[in-house]
Amino acid sequence: MQNGAGGKKKTKCANCEGKGLVKQGDKKMKCQRCGGTGFKSPANRPAR
Ligand SMILES: [Zn+2]
Repeated sequence: MQNGAGGKKKTKCANCEGKGLVKQGDKKMKCQRCGGTGFKSPANRPAR
């Protein structure tokens, strides 16, 4: 059986540009958009 689970294409989070961290003034905070992964998964849609 063929299942493409695992290596699907990832979309870079536009909020942190794939870093998973966003600059907040002087410190870096975990990007809440992607949860710090730097990528947003197409299957995971934000609640709002
Ligand atoms: Zn992000």
